[in-house]
This record gives sequence, C-alpha cells and structure tokens, in this order.
Amino acid sequence: MPVKKMTKCVCGGLLKDESLVKNGVKLSVQKCVKCGEIYIPGSEMMRYDIIKGTSPMVRKIRKSGDSLIITVPKQIVEKFNAHDGDYITFEPNEKEVRIKIIHAE
Ligand SMILES: [Zn+2]
Repeated sequence: MPVKKMTKCVCGGLLKDESLVKNGVKLSVQKCVKCGEIYIPGSEMMRYDIIKGTSPMVRKIRKSGDSLIITVPKQIVEKFNAHDGDYITFEPNEKEVRIKIIHAE
C-alpha cells in the first residue's frame, strides 16, 4: 500500500527521509531540513507499538513444541467472559482472520 508522504514541514522547509532509532527500534521518519522537526508516519508508530508490545491488543506469536501460540488480551477475556477450556474459532477471509470465542459450557 503506498504511503502518502508530506513533502513540506509546517515551517515551509522541505522534508527529507531519515531513519531514527527510538528505544532500540529503527523507524523511517521524515525530518525538516530547515527547523529539524521530525515527522513519524502513523504506520511507523504502529510498528513501534507492536515491536515494543505497548499496544494491549497486540500479541506476539510464540512457539510451543510444534504449535504457534498466542495469549488472549485481558480486555478481551473480560469483555467476552472467556474461561480456561473455552474454544476459539478462526474464520479466515482474504485479508484477515476473525476470531470468535465459544464457551465450553
Ligand atoms: Zn520545519
């Protein structure tokens, strides 16, 4: 998906592509050549949140034996009243997977 980039800073200066390391994560940003203001695209902020695990709705896939496992966020557990022993169904479509919680009892 092409990312629409700004070409100018609010000060009128031109923006130049640069990379920035924020807490160990390398981000593609744009920096104003005139005032030095740094613009971080939304997609890069999202990638940062994912890598740093700061988004409560993002989970890392982990390996356990031959399986890949994910944990269920606390907010989802509470909202959908999920319990140990409940089931999860995966409903894949072209671009994403819908997850449904099915109560065991
Ligand atoms: Zn500027």
